[in-house]
Amino acid sequence: MKNKGINTKNSKKVVSKLETCYLCNQEFDINKDDGSHYHYGKYPICVKCSEAYGFFNK
Ligand SMILES: [Zn+2]
Repeated sequence: MKNKGINTKNSKKVVSKLETCYLCNQEFDINKDDGSHYHYGKYPICVKCSEAYGFFNK
């Protein structure tokens, strides 16, 4: 088995979760590593609206 250990290296799971943006009603992946986030912890905001409205919460 040459490839032992490869599974632990690649085990980083990125689970996409589709949400509908509270502002523009477009579906987006909230788990993507961009500016999308839950505003006030409950309103899904896509990256475009985050940028447009300055909602970035870093
Ligand atoms: Zn949006």
